[in-house]
Amino acid sequence: MNAATLPNDDAAFWMPFTANRAFKAQPRMLSAARDMHYFTPEGRAVLDGTAGLWCVNAGHTRRKIVEAIQRQAAEVDFLPAFQLGHPLAFELAQRVAALTPRPLDRVFFTNSGSESVDTALKIALAYHRARGEASRTRLIGRERGYHGVGFGGISVGGIGPNRRPYGPLLPGVDHLRSTHDPSAAFTRGQPTAGAELADDLERLVALHGADTIAAVIVEPLAGSTGVLVPPRGYLERLRAICDRHGVLLIFDEVITGFGRLGAANATSLFGVTPDLICFAKGLTNAAIPMGAVVCSRGIYEAVVDNAPPGIELFHGYTYSAHPLACAAALASLDVYEEEALFERAADLAPHWEAAVHSLAGTRHVVDVRNLGLVAGIELEPRPGEPGARAMETFRAAFDRGLLIRVTGDIIALSPPLIVSREQIDEMIGVLASLLPGVA
Ligand code: PLP
Repeated sequence: MNAATLPNDDAAFWMPFTANRAFKAQPRMLSAARDMHYFTPEGRAVLDGTAGLWCVNAGHTRRKIVEAIQRQAAEVDFLPAFQLGHPLAFELAQRVAALTPRPLDRVFFTNSGSESVDTALKIALAYHRARGEASRTRLIGRERGYHGVGFGGISVGGIGPNRRPYGPLLPGVDHLRSTHDPSAAFTRGQPTAGAELADDLERLVALHGADTIAAVIVEPLAGSTGVLVPPRGYLERLRAICDRHGVLLIFDEVITGFGRLGAANATSLFGVTPDLICFAKGLTNAAIPMGAVVCSRGIYEAVVDNAPPGIELFHGYTYSAHPLACAAALASLDVYEEEALFERAADLAPHWEAAVHSLAGTRHVVDVRNLGLVAGIELEPRPGEPGARAMETFRAAFDRGLLIRVTGDIIALSPPLIVSREQIDEMIGVLASLLPGVA
């Protein structure tokens, strides 16, 4: 490093979704990780309450995954996935498809959740056009939805600050109402009321005409907005309305895939089968970036079989099905299976639920929501300073050796699925002891 650059050596990195000025005034650095812990450069352990960013489901630097990546890097570092194939990509597609119910069995690889979302939206449009319904171009998202940061994802997404600076976005997009019901605060698991919120789709069908609507995209459990658990019957009702009007249903399972809710994915947990699913994050245990879209065989056949000879879908990424990512994903799926981590998450869920709900009554806490190994702990915002109280809690927890995630004034917890009961108690103990001291 050039000594002349040292005084400014944190200036060049424009950090994503970060308060850059505050961070650079008071940095928090991590430089190593193992299993349930991160380590600061000074060697201080930080318990990971967030599986990184909802993605390190098997815990950190797992040997089997590390070795698979090392081996693959030495064998073939890269090959184009356009008009060429690598055996691991075909093997992985089958393994991913085996985790979703039929007829979902065709897999398109991407490198992130955002790319999975844009890919799913584009496949939905291509499907309708291939079947002679090119008028179906409208995409429906949901208020408070998070679908990454591509233009498609922020268009169907429903989080204001992620959209406002970026102009008119995609045309012809509309949004369902959010499923959040403040009167159901402190509900354990799925709220019993609220299935009828799905009828909002009927309103949009009446408003725009079914023949203009291509697809509806929702997170089965909304994560990044602060953990909103779907009311019982809501997803089933959404499915039925989509069927009635020929609208494709897309589940964005970037967070809920790969065990987070105590099942392989939310699709299996809830028994509601969408037409397309977006995955990323846990697919590779986050060790190498990768995403995937799984779609029904009917969608694949409509697009592929109806196309003239040659390329059927003009879409793909340089790094689609990257060999290192395929190796990381296959090893991750092996670890999930060998250690029965999806079942482990389901076994731990009752302890988790009891632990997070023990925060009811703690100073500032106005709601606790949970499902599987996910929890949202909503704080009363400090008057005139939205988000400040949660951010202060985040900093205090980090200083106490616990990594949490905050969004607005909501704390989101989603530990690796290898978490122990004692570590769950430790996380909740830290929060219970520090929240009363937060202004
Ligand atoms: N969709 C959902 C539901 C997500 O939670 C996320 C990220 O948190 C994304 C999409 C975007 O994924 P990525 O950040 O990998 O682009």
